[in-house]
Amino acid sequence: MMTDFDAIIIGGGASGLMCAIAAGQRRRRVLVLEHAETVGKKILISGGGRCNFTNRNVSTENYLSENPHFCKSALSRFTPADFIALVEKHGIRYHEKTAGQLFCDGSAREIVAMLRAECRAAGVDIRTGHTVTAIRKNDTFSIETDHGTFRAASLVIATGGLSIPKIGATDFGLRVAKQFGLKIVPPAPGLVGLRLGAVEQRALGGLSGVSVEAVVSCSGQSFREAILFTHRGLSGPAVLQISNYWRRGQTITINLLPDVDLAATISNWQKTHPKSTLKTRLGEWLPKRLVRNRLAPPLDTKPVNQLSPKEIAAVIRAFQAWEVSPTGTDGFKKAEVTRGGVDTAELSSKTFEARRVPGLFFIGEVVDVTGWLGGYNFQWAWASGWCAGQFV
Ligand SMILES: Cc1cc2nc3c(=O)[nH]c(=O)nc-3n(C[C@H](O)[C@H](O)[C@H](O)COP(=O)(O)OP(=O)(O)OC[C@H]3O[C@@H](n4cnc5c(N)ncnc54)[C@H](O)[C@@H]3O)c2cc1C
Repeated sequence: MMTDFDAIIIGGGASGLMCAIAAGQRRRRVLVLEHAETVGKKILISGGGRCNFTNRNVSTENYLSENPHFCKSALSRFTPADFIALVEKHGIRYHEKTAGQLFCDGSAREIVAMLRAECRAAGVDIRTGHTVTAIRKNDTFSIETDHGTFRAASLVIATGGLSIPKIGATDFGLRVAKQFGLKIVPPAPGLVGLRLGAVEQRALGGLSGVSVEAVVSCSGQSFREAILFTHRGLSGPAVLQISNYWRRGQTITINLLPDVDLAATISNWQKTHPKSTLKTRLGEWLPKRLVRNRLAPPLDTKPVNQLSPKEIAAVIRAFQAWEVSPTGTDGFKKAEVTRGGVDTAELSSKTFEARRVPGLFFIGEVVDVTGWLGGYNFQWAWASGWCAGQFV
């Protein structure tokens, strides 16, 4: 069986469905091929089930890529306001969390239902449970599947990143890129917990479960959000954010008291509370378990007026310039995104078509553009999908 379409989109996730809607609205005959039994599975588990579907404040600064300018064009053509308008058109109620992050009041299911409804209205043909077995290109693309062969002039790869394989993530998009000779920026887990070596982890024994707001820095980038100590290392939003910038062999620096001039404060305590201990004083600001961990004896029990300048410098280092040396990450099993992907040098930032393979498009997370935590990755999926949908 041969069936013809104008565009075939492989991957029925965020970017693929948005691309299908945009192309369908242009009266293109669009087929979405999804290998899972249902579309939008990652959307369903996103944002703790409430889908942080965009961020009001999106700029190129919020993305990483070998070419940091690549994402600019798409992000300016399909903006957070465009997606919010769609959400409002469907009567989906939402709220803003910190820093412009928009979440559904109800459930991420509403976003998937909205995308399906838009696909229906645009005449998009969605086929789930289809496994692609081969892609051939002559004048058009022939897509062979376990349910027959489909043909189209345009082929869009929207199969996402490698994270969370158990809900259907595959390296399919990277394999297609390789098949057509396109360069790939090596993929790595992003927005992911960092693991510590056995010695460092033992030293932090007992802190598992402690969460505190901190500034975490690496490679000239800093994030101020919560960090969480786990039984394997570090997690929490600030650590997930910095994981995008961390490379093997680098240390990350943690400031547990970002608003405090600790030298001046200790000097003040020496006058106002000379007999008190750092354990008591710092314990008013930070979890006691954490304070005990950071204060090596005798600093924990020594009255503040007996601390030497050298000891005060050590305390400042321990709380405000604490260096940890991750040995790895929690991996693709736990990562929220994949860094790297199809090299943007291979793609047009206007159309997302491969420069060297007319008719072949790559969108969403499979492309080497990775967003921060906070709705930026979905905004990239919507924007790149919508833009490609104008050209397929
Ligand atoms: C736990 C978790 C929570 C997240 N929360 C947020 C959030 O709140 N906000 C945010 O901005 N981002 C969030 N993200 C990231 C966001 O989900 C992704 O960046 C986004 O979904 C990428 O869109 P995409 O279309 O590129 O890929 P996806 O949405 O992953 O879609 C890819 C689709 O392709 C299908 N597929 C894969 N291989 C094949 C194949 N061989 N054949 C056919 N189909 C295939 C997959 O089944 C999937 O349906 C989260 C990610 C995770 C893992």
